[in-house]
Amino acid sequence: MSMIREVKEESKREMLKRISAHSHIRGLGLDEKGEPLFIADGLVGQLEARKAAGVVVKMIKEGKLAGRGILFVGPPGSGKTALAIAIARELGEDTPFVMINGAELYSSEIKKTEILMRAVRRAIGIRIREFRRVYEGVVKEIKFALASHPFNPYVKVPRGARITLATKDEEKTLEVDQAIATQLAQLGVRRGDLISIDADSGEVFKLGRVKGVEKAKYYDVETTRVLEEMPKGKIFKEKEIVRTVTLHDLDEAYAAQKRAVISLIGVGTEEKEIDPEIRRAVDESVKKALSEGKVTLVPGVLFIDDVHMLDIEAFSFLSRVMESEFSPILIMATNRGITKIRGTELEGPHGVPLDLLDRLLIITVRPYTTDEMREIILIRADEEEVKLSKDALELLVKIASERSLRYAIQLMQPARIIAEKKGRDEIRKEDVEEASKLFIDVSQSVELARKWEDKFLK
Ligand code: ATP
Repeated sequence: MSMIREVKEESKREMLKRISAHSHIRGLGLDEKGEPLFIADGLVGQLEARKAAGVVVKMIKEGKLAGRGILFVGPPGSGKTALAIAIARELGEDTPFVMINGAELYSSEIKKTEILMRAVRRAIGIRIREFRRVYEGVVKEIKFALASHPFNPYVKVPRGARITLATKDEEKTLEVDQAIATQLAQLGVRRGDLISIDADSGEVFKLGRVKGVEKAKYYDVETTRVLEEMPKGKIFKEKEIVRTVTLHDLDEAYAAQKRAVISLIGVGTEEKEIDPEIRRAVDESVKKALSEGKVTLVPGVLFIDDVHMLDIEAFSFLSRVMESEFSPILIMATNRGITKIRGTELEGPHGVPLDLLDRLLIITVRPYTTDEMREIILIRADEEEVKLSKDALELLVKIASERSLRYAIQLMQPARIIAEKKGRDEIRKEDVEEASKLFIDVSQSVELARKWEDKFLK
């Protein structure tokens, strides 16, 4: 079915932006016995919780967590989000991770259950294996056949191209049409680029670069890693491509198709919600593809922070999700003790209804020690490529323990810019001080806003 071709990358990109604060986290940092190392995989300390999370990962892999979920309980800024991401990383590189905050459900005109449903479907991956017939090799020579632009005779556009590709074993010259030549020109393909041309769709991909075609020094464009070897093998081949899309991507693609048809016959409407019919149709196609072994399911992690903000309706929705065929791994977090369950007159532990609570494994996280905070700040400094002097680091550690770790980390980039203006690439204590005066933390801003409110209300 053609649905597999049309996917939007939007949600993924959006997600990446939101979790970039946690980009240093690569896993739970456990040894073969499941024991946590003090610093590993980008994680620091929080040893008991990491060990428990390791057990959870094992249960998930053995399929023993079905119908159940995880609840992290601990103070704000104790790494609950970081741990949830680490669990997702442990499950595999393409495991979706979706994060929502309980309060988000009430901040929009979209129905609560629709927001939840979207989050659920974004947290379920479908891994697709495709075989593509491609020409792949290093460009040895490229010659464009040029023609005048149809509207502007002073501009030349490619009419076609002749391109010679090479691998260690082979060399081939191809004549390509205008569509492919245009892409080659747009991508700026030149001698030494490792490229791939899809023989069926005509799409061109730039995969890497080699300095001097004869020299076997390749650079991977994305990672700028030096590839040791010149590619081997045939230039024309069948290549397996694995990609992971989410159920939500498929819903959107299907909905877009349907909207296009509807607008053609002139009855277009602005829809905020995805029609349940669309989701049912997507589910049917996915089930069919699963049973035919064409795709595999990649259940991801749905992380709901401040879960005590959910109301009874949202909780029963989640309970149903946990029992359904396509269900993500549900990880929730809260910093509340006994509190009212929204939408009821009842109180409950963590504001979660008892029937759901019964199905949750609870992991506690505790506040960080100063040593742990220092290590986390150092990891983030490394990740964000900022240099800290000793006293700048100590001041940030102090700020982290007095205010919050998040705030201390956020000060690093402004401090770097302040240092740069003074012609230094190392951040000193005074730069951090200046940054902390320019940017206050949330508790201070709330305090200020409250004072102003009092004034306005008088
Ligand atoms: P919570 O979800 O409990 O509020 P969090 O996981 O969002 O906390 P923050 O205090 O916001 O944690 O974390 C600030 C930064 O420190 C983030 O970049 C986060 O990835 C990182 N961080 C938090 N805990 C750890 C840890 N144990 N090891 C390494 N980095 C961590």
